[in-house]
Amino acid sequence: MDTLYIKKSDIPSWWNAIKAAHDHVVAPVRKDKVVEFARVESYEQVATDYIQTTRSAKEVLFPRTERLFSYKKNGRDIEVQDFDPESVPSQVLWHVRPCDAASLFPLDAVFNWDYKDVMYNTRRERTAIVATSCATADEYCFCTSVGGGAGDTRGSDILLTYTADGAIAEVMTEKGKSLVALSQNLFTEYTAGDKDKYVADVPRVFDVEKLKEKMHGMFDSQVWKEQSERCLGCGACAYVCPTCSCFDIQENPKGSCGERLRCWDSCGFAQFTLHTSGHNPRSTQASRWRQRLMHKFSYIPQRQDSLGCTGCGRCSRACPVDMNIKEHLSSIDKIQ
Ligand code: SF4
Ligand code: SF4
Repeated sequence: MDTLYIKKSDIPSWWNAIKAAHDHVVAPVRKDKVVEFARVESYEQVATDYIQTTRSAKEVLFPRTERLFSYKKNGRDIEVQDFDPESVPSQVLWHVRPCDAASLFPLDAVFNWDYKDVMYNTRRERTAIVATSCATADEYCFCTSVGGGAGDTRGSDILLTYTADGAIAEVMTEKGKSLVALSQNLFTEYTAGDKDKYVADVPRVFDVEKLKEKMHGMFDSQVWKEQSERCLGCGACAYVCPTCSCFDIQENPKGSCGERLRCWDSCGFAQFTLHTSGHNPRSTQASRWRQRLMHKFSYIPQRQDSLGCTGCGRCSRACPVDMNIKEHLSSIDKIQ
């Protein structure tokens, strides 16, 4: 890893060089009261005065709806148009939070588990991640309780930590080195070793190792019913989550043509595991809430050696009935 420094006044020139060398730069943009990721054309468009975007950056790699293939019937012949990897643009994801960069581990694991997903992997290869340490956090953040931190470098190609007059640049990968090389003359070595004073202090509220162990034996616990009493099953928590990767496959026929689509899904929906027979193995909201938490904190760690949660707090901010995952996990942690 190289630790470098760039002056605040030089960052726009570097950003312009990055923009010129890639098809797109995707960054947080303010739209009225919310901040969301969008393609940006100028450095001035990038929002910095916010705690967290409403939705995560995952849709840059795993879109909400995407075409797997399209087809056209002509008599007995069928012409199939597959995904074209050459159509994937080169892009830089700029100013993501460390919790979003960390979410790439469970996403990489699931899209390379029993099948290597060409669409996800092509986008991943052509995307560079420039993350920014968090200088502030709110009551929903709990990254430090799930192994992360406000200045965590995991998943970033470069992590920028802003100081009063510039940014410390921790260059983590070859992709990161290539981005720096676009404006090498603007960077100097940084040896002060004082990054922590520019990074938010996020208190740790539970021990995730103990929590994982405890949850392993909690399948039949009453806690799922108690915690899920007010859950509406709206699925908002999964839609804003950077690590949720469940999807549904839909057919969209139009006469003799059609397309097959992949669309985000949510384990909170009553129909998520509904069988054609009418049987639903998760017929209650309690069983669906159990699935959400056990998947993230028990099944994913067992199968993929990572966690299904980065502590970003989005699900709690988005929930219409104030289900707070940090509080729910803390209360499970306290069960004797
Ligand atoms: S956002 Fe809240 S109400 Fe909606 S499914 Fe998630 S926990 Fe339930
Ligand atoms: S479960 Fe909630 S806190 Fe955890 S990563 Fe997903 S949205 Fe963030």
